[in-house]
Amino acid sequence: MSDSFETVRERMVRDQLQARGVSDQRVLQAMAEVPRHLFVDDAMQACAYGDHPLPIGGDQTISQPLVVAAMTEALQLTGSEKVLEIGTGSGYQAAVLSRLCEKVYTVERINSLLAGARKIFDRLHYYNILSRLDDGTLGWQEHAPYDAIIVTAGGPEVPKPLVEQLAENGRMVIPVGDRDVQELQYVKKVGDDVEIETLESVRFVSLIGAHGWNG
Ligand code: SAH
Repeated sequence: MSDSFETVRERMVRDQLQARGVSDQRVLQAMAEVPRHLFVDDAMQACAYGDHPLPIGGDQTISQPLVVAAMTEALQLTGSEKVLEIGTGSGYQAAVLSRLCEKVYTVERINSLLAGARKIFDRLHYYNILSRLDDGTLGWQEHAPYDAIIVTAGGPEVPKPLVEQLAENGRMVIPVGDRDVQELQYVKKVGDDVEIETLESVRFVSLIGAHGWNG
């Protein structure tokens, strides 16, 4: 590739995100800053800024840039929040979040992916990301409540522990549906109730765990 990654990244932000309605300046800035190509295998770096998801090993994928941006924007982060992510994967989504809030807690069930993500967080000095190997459908009780929760794998329902660990007025985005296709749900906690809004159709890999799919 002749253009520098920075140039290609700016083009991604303009043509794939801004042109399609992503307007939160902080989200656009974070995605212009985080080096997405470092979160994929060397052989795939040249297509890291394409308008599509990318394989990251272990049959998992890193979402298309537009999906990352749309889900992040839905959380309405201002900089002071504690955010929980379920499904660290490559670490890219957590990296974007880390530029936009105070602290990111991220949970992954596949050890090799978590190890890879941690290496890149260190390399980029993204020290406000704390990660853990576990079944994320149980949340991460120790640091609850969270101002925002993002689930980057699709399950059959919204896991109860995640609703419980959401702060008052907290927001969660999560793909819910069957194994092949899901709807992105926006869940807001208001008192003892939750308000659920359905956003677009999406395709995520499976959320596997006690409150997800069985293996
Ligand atoms: N956010 C990631 C996307 C990774 S794909 C990124 O930016 O790259 C979804 C990830 O969710 C996979 O890595 C998968 O292993 C993980 N996952 C699935 N079920 C999980 C569970 N119950 N707890 C934690 N992680 C889970």
